[in-house]
Amino acid sequence: IKEDYNKKISFYDKKFLVTALREKRYTSEFEVALSKRQFKMYLQAQVTPNGNVCGAEALVRWIHPESGLIPPYEFISVFEKSGLIHKLDLFIWEEAAKKLAEWKKEGRDDLHISVNISTKDFQHLDLFATFTNLVRKYGISPQKLKLEITESSMMLDLEKQLLLIDKLQNFGFDIEIDDFGSGYSSLNMLKSIHANVLKLDMGFLRNIKEVDALRAKDILKSTVNLAKVLKMTVITEGVETLDQVEFLTQAGSDYFQGYYFAKPISVGDFEEKFLKQ
Ligand code: C2E
Ligand code: CA
Ligand code: CA
Ligand code: CA
Repeated sequence: IKEDYNKKISFYDKKFLVTALREKRYTSEFEVALSKRQFKMYLQAQVTPNGNVCGAEALVRWIHPESGLIPPYEFISVFEKSGLIHKLDLFIWEEAAKKLAEWKKEGRDDLHISVNISTKDFQHLDLFATFTNLVRKYGISPQKLKLEITESSMMLDLEKQLLLIDKLQNFGFDIEIDDFGSGYSSLNMLKSIHANVLKLDMGFLRNIKEVDALRAKDILKSTVNLAKVLKMTVITEGVETLDQVEFLTQAGSDYFQGYYFAKPISVGDFEEKFLKQ
């Protein structure tokens, strides 16, 4: 038993060390990566039940010169910890606004882009000034740049954040509640924020036992209803099968985002796939 115990400890120590080293490396590489444009905005299509694209979510990727494509779960929390995330988010938001302006010029101002806002962004940035300046600079409608927040990003100074959200909405921005049903966003959030869009997370249906499936579906159906009562648009995220799309269309989901329709892809691939006739 003692030997087992020692093995476990060294395993955790090693894991901890690897994580710590990675954090240090990523943090020290950040500024160069940003200036050398190694961070890329990828786009994942958001579609109507018939599969017509209505917009996209901006999801960052780090195209590292040695490691190749690094997914966000490896570095977002690192940059949140080291206080750098707001610089990365500012870059991605600007990429999104730039792209929207370009699409507008090409006659595609029907499309929107949703961007993610991290907790730390609320602390480091004046988000009202940031977003209003951005849409002014690029001459786009605030309606087209949608703002995704989670409950966990709202925890500090709720009072102040509610005021900010109110101001952003009055200016014309739509607020989307991200990851609803996943633990990051809950009923509390619906109570205090009059958000425009509910993003329902289908992670809820992943890896569930057969016996729980009906129950889970009832919960999803009721959640869509709840959103409708609150006059919110519903986007179901993480749809992977036709079954899920059919069921949720029936339940009243307005839009879909998930591997069934498209994975997050580079802007070039997105335009190739969805915007060329
Ligand atoms: P999120 O905002 O919930 O984004 C949706 C995630 O679900 C994306 O992961 C997407 O690739 C994945 N996904 C989409 N459809 C499916 C599906 O059908 N099945 C499954 N299993 N997964 C699906 P991704 O791109 O790895 O991003 C992970 C998280 O990193 C995001 O979760 C978001 O919280 C954060 N993130 C990504 N980009 C940014 C960014 O620019 N800024 C900030 N602050 N956070 C970001
Ligand atoms: Ca173009
Ligand atoms: Ca999101
Ligand atoms: Ca989400």
